[in-house]
Amino acid sequence: MSILKQKVITQVNNGLANKLREAGYNQIGSCIQCGTCTGSCPSGRRTSLKIRTIMRKVQLGIDDVLSDNDIWYCSTCYTCFERCPRNVPVTDMIIYLRNLAVQKGFMLKSHLELCQKLLDTGHGVPIDNEKWNNLRKFYGLSKIPPTVHSYPDSLDEIQKLLILSEFDKLIKIKPKDISPEVSIEVLNVIEDGVSKLVVKEIGSREVILEKEVKISVC
Ligand code: SF4
Ligand code: SF4
Repeated sequence: MSILKQKVITQVNNGLANKLREAGYNQIGSCIQCGTCTGSCPSGRRTSLKIRTIMRKVQLGIDDVLSDNDIWYCSTCYTCFERCPRNVPVTDMIIYLRNLAVQKGFMLKSHLELCQKLLDTGHGVPIDNEKWNNLRKFYGLSKIPPTVHSYPDSLDEIQKLLILSEFDKLIKIKPKDISPEVSIEVLNVIEDGVSKLVVKEIGSREVILEKEVKISVC
């Protein structure tokens, strides 16, 4: 039994691509699906993100891209943009797609938690434990950064700004939980002249199981 699902697209919907064009991302039509972005993407090695597929979905107007968890797995490292032979600003487009997704009520739970932390503490990732303090010390930095941590009185001001910009409304979105989908990747690896199969079970965020199967040749 095949686990692959066939999807036949008979009509192209320009709605999503046009929204990107209106926002100044005309290069969406320049993508030639070469796959350089996917091949370069560090997040794609650890998650189900296939950035080329996202670009194709946008070109074809497949709206479910906005509810797709994958758009949240991009770490915005800009490697794809640097390497794209067609100068497609992939990273900025992903950020814009996330904005559209949030307007439709989609955001990953972990990102929502980060928003909540920013609102509560003035930091997306508060440096509030000994481990971070020691790490900063190790690199010759002050124990705490010159931010709200050093100037706690400014938290009130930050919170007012976040509320004025309606940032607080973001965190009223119902969190979208991590997809339970798991994919299997089988790699044939030759190490020290011995051939073995490495079976990886990949959850939507990370490799959750890695098994080695030695092959004996008779
Ligand atoms: S590298 Fe650029 S042209 Fe190639 S698939 Fe990615 S976005 Fe499209
Ligand atoms: S910016 Fe995002 S999509 Fe592009 S290579 Fe980095 S993680 Fe991957």
